[in-house]
Amino acid sequence: MKLLRTKQEVHRHLGISRINNTTIGFVPTMGALHDGHLDLVKKAKENSDVIIVSIFVNPTQFNNQKDFENYPKTLNKDLDLLDKTGVDFVFVPSNQEIYPSIPSLIIDFGAIDKVLEGAFRPGHFNGVGIVVSKLLNIVKPHKTFFGQKDLQQVAIIKRLVEDLSFDTEIVIIPTVREADGLAMSSRNLRLDDEQRKIAPIIYEALTFAKDELLAGNNWFGTRGKVEQMFKEEPRFRLEYFELISSDRFELLESLKGTSNIAICTAAYLGEIRLIDNISIFD
Ligand code: AMP
Repeated sequence: MKLLRTKQEVHRHLGISRINNTTIGFVPTMGALHDGHLDLVKKAKENSDVIIVSIFVNPTQFNNQKDFENYPKTLNKDLDLLDKTGVDFVFVPSNQEIYPSIPSLIIDFGAIDKVLEGAFRPGHFNGVGIVVSKLLNIVKPHKTFFGQKDLQQVAIIKRLVEDLSFDTEIVIIPTVREADGLAMSSRNLRLDDEQRKIAPIIYEALTFAKDELLAGNNWFGTRGKVEQMFKEEPRFRLEYFELISSDRFELLESLKGTSNIAICTAAYLGEIRLIDNISIFD
């Protein structure tokens, strides 16, 4: 496995792969890797010849400076894991390498980024759109792998790739969970023992709400019950719990009209903000 620090190094090493007609699979990450990330890498390996993973904690997608500063960093462990998983290249650029100047471009994703993560984290998807565009331009992968864990990000990236004609196939991988249902996330590393114990309530609430809806109960009654569940655990602060169409990210009030439906939620445990989602029909 080779560690690449600059755009030029990426061009030099991957240019050869491109000339040799090998398929380049790309997994962008912010590091602090867990089995969810490694699952993306495994899927990338099954679907491409050369695998490159990027590790870059992108400052422009954090709307909260403290969250950025406290984002877990475990580079040596990450490199070790990627080496063992059989990755060919890891791109670990500096801030200066990605942002030699502050971007003046602002991406407006329209309705998709006016709700949920877009509404509660202003500027977040602009930062995601900018960094993913930069990384796709640098790496020029044939296939790029993202997790369903960040469902709204998936919708944003699909728009980005379509609207700007990026020549890459977007492959989406299901959410990998801990044995108790908690979605794997780099931010889980910041949970203390007590918080970690109650964190699976997020997934319990999602599965409960899904079952209620599939049993014919109405959305607002269901959400009311979920809000009550969270109120009974005062260490949680529920930010949103919404039924949405997973392609257009429109807020829904029932299961009628479309089959691409999910429930998305964000909740705070102390300072740590966790997100998760569940598809209704799969
Ligand atoms: P991050 O390092 O959090 O930016 O995540 C990098 C990629 O890994 C994104 O495409 C995420 O959606 C994906 N990812 C994060 N957590 C999980 C998970 N538990 N299961 C599957 N993919 C995940």
